[in-house]
Amino acid sequence: MSLPPLREVIARHGLSASKALGQNFLFDEQLLDRIAAIPGPLEGREVLEIGPGPGGLTRALLRAGAKVTAIEMDRRCLPALAELAEAFPGRLQVIEGDALKIDHGIAGPFHVVANLPYNVGTALFVQWLSGEDWPPQWVSLTLMFQLEVAQRIVAQPGTGAYGRLAVLVQWRSAAKLAMKVHRSAFTPPPKVMSAMVHIEPDEAPAGVSAHILERVTEAAFGQRRKMLRQSLKGLPGALEALAKLGIDAQRRAETLSVEEFVSVARLLTPNDR
Ligand code: SAM
Repeated sequence: MSLPPLREVIARHGLSASKALGQNFLFDEQLLDRIAAIPGPLEGREVLEIGPGPGGLTRALLRAGAKVTAIEMDRRCLPALAELAEAFPGRLQVIEGDALKIDHGIAGPFHVVANLPYNVGTALFVQWLSGEDWPPQWVSLTLMFQLEVAQRIVAQPGTGAYGRLAVLVQWRSAAKLAMKVHRSAFTPPPKVMSAMVHIEPDEAPAGVSAHILERVTEAAFGQRRKMLRQSLKGLPGALEALAKLGIDAQRRAETLSVEEFVSVARLLTPNDR
């Protein structure tokens, strides 16, 4: 399948990158193929792509054999995406709209792959990882973040990057920093380095409410320099839970493992869950 070079597509459709829409495009097809390979074999698999823009990553996903549903809010990109849909008959469905507001309509399990603006990416990410139902409908998330955010997602206890985000992700998923991406790979280049993060759901620990775990980490990391006996004292039952588990209340939030946070949340979760 020979497609016109991406730069030519951009020029022909007049797709200058919009700052307001957080557009930083990727044109290097080899890099895009490496990104599309992160989720593993995609032949015949459903993929949800948010923010395809002119379609560089979309092409790579289609080349890898995926069936893609793509949500894009910039109407200017639709003609370029329509050309791509024509080149891969029956394999690309484009939905115009704001991914934060509309449903993708995919019925079965799907992979998510996206290079998104930071604010939209984080909002969707938190949405995909919260909620009481687990495993989720998605099989994996492969997402571009600022390197600093990617490091917070995969952070281990005892580091400055470890916090609510790490616990939110890691308590029932496996997360890895799959690839660093240099600023110069983007047009226009963003101010900071980026990285692809890959996440696959694990089995959820039994008897733990996601909402309660979130409340525990919010309180604990809300005052991360303080000892737990101070930061958790407003959360009913939390100090008793620490005592029961033999967790020293003089410790600080960033020294607790994900499993320790889960154990605290389990003791605070009503038994009927
Ligand atoms: N995926 C393309 C690439 O890698 O070259 C474009 C990446 S660009 C960083 C982000 C894309 O997300 C833009 O095309 C932008 O219009 C789109 N976008 C931004 N906010 C969106 C939203 N809320 N819903 C859907 N698309 C959005």
